[in-house]
Amino acid sequence: MESQSGKNEYKIISEDFSEKLGKLSFDLKTDSVGRVDFYGDGVAKISGLPSVKYGELLDIDGCHRAIVLDLEENSVGAIVLDDPQDVSAGMLVKSTGHIAEVPVGEEMFGRVVDPLGKPIDGLGEIKTSRFRAIESAAPQIFDRAKVCEPLQTGILAVDSMIPIGKGQRELIIGDRQTGKTSMATDIILNQNGKNVYCIYVAIGQKSSSVSNIVHTLGRFGALSYTCVVCSTASDSASLQYIAPFSACAIAEEMMYAGKDVLIVYDDLSKHAVAYRTMSLLLKRPSGREAYPGDIFYLHSRLLERAAKLNALHGGGSMTAIPIVETLAGDISAYVPTNVISITDGQIYLESELFNAGVRPAVNVGLSVSRVGGSAQFGGVRKASGKLRLFLSQYRELAVFAQFGSELDDNTSEMLAKGARIVETLKQPVGLLYDVAHELIILHLATKELINDVPVAKVTNFVRSFIDFLDTDKADIVKEISDSRELSLENGLLIEDELKEFYDFYFGDNVK
Ligand code: ATP
Ligand code: MG
Repeated sequence: MESQSGKNEYKIISEDFSEKLGKLSFDLKTDSVGRVDFYGDGVAKISGLPSVKYGELLDIDGCHRAIVLDLEENSVGAIVLDDPQDVSAGMLVKSTGHIAEVPVGEEMFGRVVDPLGKPIDGLGEIKTSRFRAIESAAPQIFDRAKVCEPLQTGILAVDSMIPIGKGQRELIIGDRQTGKTSMATDIILNQNGKNVYCIYVAIGQKSSSVSNIVHTLGRFGALSYTCVVCSTASDSASLQYIAPFSACAIAEEMMYAGKDVLIVYDDLSKHAVAYRTMSLLLKRPSGREAYPGDIFYLHSRLLERAAKLNALHGGGSMTAIPIVETLAGDISAYVPTNVISITDGQIYLESELFNAGVRPAVNVGLSVSRVGGSAQFGGVRKASGKLRLFLSQYRELAVFAQFGSELDDNTSEMLAKGARIVETLKQPVGLLYDVAHELIILHLATKELINDVPVAKVTNFVRSFIDFLDTDKADIVKEISDSRELSLENGLLIEDELKEFYDFYFGDNVK
């Protein structure tokens, strides 16, 4: 009897149990977990993760993030992004299954962030809801449109001779201290009120230089439409390496939303050095100048993401201005030649010109914009015409004339005209010209209307004349600015004003 009741009890319990078991649902999840074998200088060698992918985000010990950069037979190489000094061998590593992302969106503008998108300006949290992978494929050729809309830089020498279009990639290249950063920040300042979002990426720079730039942007009211992505020289090589890619993702979000974006990478030489450091730590084979073999791919995949999209894709654009520093003017070094061949042109700043007081120190002969006149307003294109060719010829002639040989009338005339044009193209940092100013100055210079002004006084004279027009003849300036053309009547009006201003400027006795 006893055994019968025991059996029944067992049956009841097992029925009850299987009923409950049937209601349970199991959600099985597998995690692949590895271990850090070696760690040094922000680079970790990890074993036990056979199925991770290139570029995948790893989680080290629950508090550090790392990106996979090397896939080997028995281990993977990864770069650690946050708090790299706290990582050590033996820590557990989990794969996350997705690749690194940064917060993106309009909220990023007006802020200074680190390469992971975290704010470092002390203005509190950035409330974005969207994220974007830091690496993504560049737009297809069929998604792109022709670059034909000018991006006004406000710098006469650039707008007239080396025009930049929206969606173009234009390199600024030159030795140290030749005004590269100043030119790039001036271009950002000039986008004020022009509906262009700007991103400035500092790669491996001194914190003080970056804070100066942020201060300048703030002072001129440019910070509201600019996002500064900052990786300083004291940051790890891995953070310096991802900074331009993160910034590009922030720019891409705006471009795909149909907006115009300008992104400045300051500078890609330091980016290449950071990548070289990482590659050597990952024990990759090194090639020319100890850079790894894929240094070209590093910059091409970054710069290819800049584009002018066609109307089907929203018509947005991303204009990229990378900066590269040369050593002793050597533009045929490895990184400079690579970036020159990737971009659609370069602005070459020369230290000799800079030291001679020709600032911005644009070497016209070695600078080029492969997009050309289609990225220029019609009026500016007409006015600048053969300016580039003329200036190159003038530079050659000026070198020749230094020997002091006797010059015929034709040559001395050309030298005098060239010297005046060089003077009119001088422009200090922060003084930016509107398209109307540029048209007027080009008119004065190319039509030889300032031949009576002594060469040493040309720069000042022209600037004062522009100031005078801005205050006294604002209606003419506005008309030229709106139409972006200098009509025949307006040209004649300007000439009349010039005569009067000349008398006023020099007084009757100096004529
Ligand atoms: P680095 O190699 O250190 O990054 P850089 O090439 O970026 O230097 P900047 O820092 O832009 O050069 O400029 C160097 C100095 O030249 C600054 O003091 C700046 O004010 C001055 N400068 C730059 N452009 C001009 C200009 N057009 N007119 C007058 N001064 C200028
Ligand atoms: Mg600089």
